[in-house]
Amino acid sequence: MSPKKEEKLAPNPNAGSSIVRYQTLEEEDIGAAVEDAGRAITGRWDPPQGESVLRVLPARPGEKVIVVAHMHFAKIAGLEKSVICNCPRLMEDKPCPLCEEFMRLSGSRSKADRDLAYSVYRVQPRGTLNILVRGQERKGVQRWSVTKARMDELLALRRGKGGGDYSNPTEKGFDLILNRTGTGLDTEYKLMTDRTCSPLVVNEDGVYDEEKALWLIQNQPDNRVYLETPTYGEIEAMMRGETVERRSGGSTGGSERRAYTPQGRTVGDAVDDRRDGGPSEKDIPF
Ligand SMILES: [Zn+2]
Repeated sequence: MSPKKEEKLAPNPNAGSSIVRYQTLEEEDIGAAVEDAGRAITGRWDPPQGESVLRVLPARPGEKVIVVAHMHFAKIAGLEKSVICNCPRLMEDKPCPLCEEFMRLSGSRSKADRDLAYSVYRVQPRGTLNILVRGQERKGVQRWSVTKARMDELLALRRGKGGGDYSNPTEKGFDLILNRTGTGLDTEYKLMTDRTCSPLVVNEDGVYDEEKALWLIQNQPDNRVYLETPTYGEIEAMMRGETVERRSGGSTGGSERRAYTPQGRTVGDAVDDRRDGGPSEKDIPF
């Protein structure tokens, strides 16, 4: 741990030493926090203004660090609520009424129609990943929802010179720094790497705490709940302003935890997934 980090992290009130460098996680606290995060569909991290230091968790084996959904955020005139849902065309190769509307409007001679197609009916990818926010470790694992621009940055930091596999939970991994400026439509983000390598979680002596790291990795929320996609009929109902109940609430489950390895799946695997037929830029038509 660098002296720089020392300032950012709250002291551990339970430690008897004066050279505490980290707020360690208590299993009961993080257990409750993770359970809550697993239940809450909207339990996402809202980056505050200024600088945040965060750590991306590796995924459980067989799962992805960044779970990508292709979504509509259709603010349809006359409807109280936007139609926000996954796109069955891009997620499941099934017909989608919102995409049909996109195609109809984008083929129009009217520029207003074509603008409407893009602003209301287009598909946008959204990624979800699990993070620890430094200084807020006691809140447990938090979900971070990212746009395509942020995903591109995350992958660039993984591949680029000076970057690397930041989600590695051992001393080989490192934190990321997210700087948020502006509000509303003027919000801008800048993502960079913390140059100091550090473990996901350390013990009282500042050394990688493998047991706690594995616990966090194993018990983190399962973001595959965001892959749930409505049917054609359900989207049509939403486009008429009707409320459609989610078919499943999604749960991290208690008894079906998978086996894990010390490394878990890392961002490197996510990159491989994209290369090997996972969602990539060419899959995003709009
Ligand atoms: Zn669609």
